[in-house]
Amino acid sequence: SVKIQGVSKSFGQLKVLDDIRLDIKAGSVTAILGPSGSGKSTLLRTINHLERVDDGFITVDNELVGYRKSGRTLYELKEKDILKRRADIGMVFQSFNLFPHLTVLENIIEAPVSLGQLTRPEAISLARELLARVGLGDKINAYPRQLSGGQQQRVAIARALALRPKVLLFDEPTSALDPELVGEVLDVIKELARSGTTLIIVTHEIGFAREVADTVIFMDGGRVIETGAPEQILNRPRNARTSEFLAKVL
Ligand code: ATP
Ligand code: MG
Repeated sequence: SVKIQGVSKSFGQLKVLDDIRLDIKAGSVTAILGPSGSGKSTLLRTINHLERVDDGFITVDNELVGYRKSGRTLYELKEKDILKRRADIGMVFQSFNLFPHLTVLENIIEAPVSLGQLTRPEAISLARELLARVGLGDKINAYPRQLSGGQQQRVAIARALALRPKVLLFDEPTSALDPELVGEVLDVIKELARSGTTLIIVTHEIGFAREVADTVIFMDGGRVIETGAPEQILNRPRNARTSEFLAKVL
């Protein structure tokens, strides 16, 4: 599970996250919706400790991520524990971010081998399994530039899974793709959802959120405005800002 407890974050004068409180169950799928600039990416980045918070704290399976702060009291993990914790939290970005000079196989095995989680042969065998799972068993020796955007994003998902994360974060995983390639990536994410991986997905694909999410969260102005079942948030939103947003995107 992922618990976000009173997390706030400002960039200069701008409060980007304002007292965020969320409790995300293990094995659940959470979709985060909201207008541009509402703090969605920043929230994902704080879960992964790519961004420091000003207040509050985050736990994954009851283990602290980064540090805990309340008032003036700060309890901070050591750097090597931060890295260890980050390996529990996979992240897939809009822009794939594969290493261009490494093959598909090398992209996938790099982190688990360099972090000492797996031996090279173990990592290779896991990579084969994961590539089969995302439908790319035949691309193991290809370089990223030889792949379509949808294929690159599926490799990025396999790479994130290679660390056997407790939670997988997706930041608009299909926004950079040509429309005809969106479906193949969403299908892989759906399969992960069915297999019980804990997923948190920032997305503008409302139909996908409706179909796959257990919980939909609507953010605006750095706050969680509404959270509930997809059917409730998408069909009967309680907040006017949610309705206005949905009217624009649906
Ligand atoms: P989008 O839908 O466009 O991706 P978002 O909801 O993901 O938007 P964030 O990227 O989290 O929004 O940004 C929230 C606010 O924080 C924005 O106003 C953005 O300009 C600001 N912001 C984000 N990162 C930084 C930074 N490193 N320095 C200063 N301001 C930042
Ligand atoms: Mg964003």
